[in-house]
Amino acid sequence: MTSILNADLHCHSVVSDGTLTPEALATRAKANGVELWALTDHDEIGGQLRAAAAARALGMHYLTGVEISVTFANETVHIVGLGFDATDPRIMSGLQATRGGRGQRAQEMSAQLAKVGIQGAYEGALKFVGNPELISRTHFARFLVESGVCRDTPEVFRKYLIDGKPGFVPHRWASLQQAVQWITECGGVAVIAHPGRYRFTANEQYALFSEFKAHGGQAVEVVTGSHSPSEYVTYADMAKEFGLAASRGSDFHSPDESHTDLGALPYLSGELTPVWELLAHRIQ
Ligand code: AMP
Ligand code: MN
Ligand code: MN
Ligand code: MN
Repeated sequence: MTSILNADLHCHSVVSDGTLTPEALATRAKANGVELWALTDHDEIGGQLRAAAAARALGMHYLTGVEISVTFANETVHIVGLGFDATDPRIMSGLQATRGGRGQRAQEMSAQLAKVGIQGAYEGALKFVGNPELISRTHFARFLVESGVCRDTPEVFRKYLIDGKPGFVPHRWASLQQAVQWITECGGVAVIAHPGRYRFTANEQYALFSEFKAHGGQAVEVVTGSHSPSEYVTYADMAKEFGLAASRGSDFHSPDESHTDLGALPYLSGELTPVWELLAHRIQ
């Protein structure tokens, strides 16, 4: 398969912190010209059967997907998994363990927000949650916008939800090795998500790419809604330097919040190996 393919291999549904159902996302992806699609909810594969069935009904190719939260060098890193067997108990139990701490973390976030005068944030966030095991900072952000504390979700993150701000609660997610292993032992390909978003030094970034590769990781997102055009070039170079395939995905969450719509991205450069070349046998 060529790099000239409208593949969107990163987005979120109500099963994690998106606002559309898997079916509505499939319809929107198809309308935007997506030819190969993956739903990649955070730490959860409960939407996979619905997404695959909706893609099939629309005549759109599909890869199973997930975005796993990982702690690396005291920072949260996201690893996308593509093309794994979503019925394999090994990835299911790994993800279940990863989801486990979210409820407690959300209670602590709420207690901290109460100290700066924002009451009832846990209950408020819950109103926006589709899947209670997946309560996330995004749901808190929607509550703080709804209640008029902030104008939009980026403002909530800036003022309340990032490291050093009152509603931030540090959390230990899966290890890099675990995430890569769950994906690869179930027949999938592991992908470093949006590398341009991490606040790493050059050395830390080098360590992330080297360790990821050593654990069996095979691809990196180059063209994503989280990257600027100059980052497309930076991470195309990193993909070549580390011998990684390249992925493409919008990271779409919501028509009201996401600035990059499903499928609305430049094509991958022809010099890169598209991740779907490694996954030809897993495409549904
Ligand atoms: P969590 O997994 O609960 O830590 O929430 C992480 C999610 O918050 C990410 O997947 C994004 O959807 C969202 N997010 C993180 N940083 C920002 C930001 N600066 N602005 C808007 N959304 C963000
Ligand atoms: Mn998200
Ligand atoms: Mn992410
Ligand atoms: Mn994402």
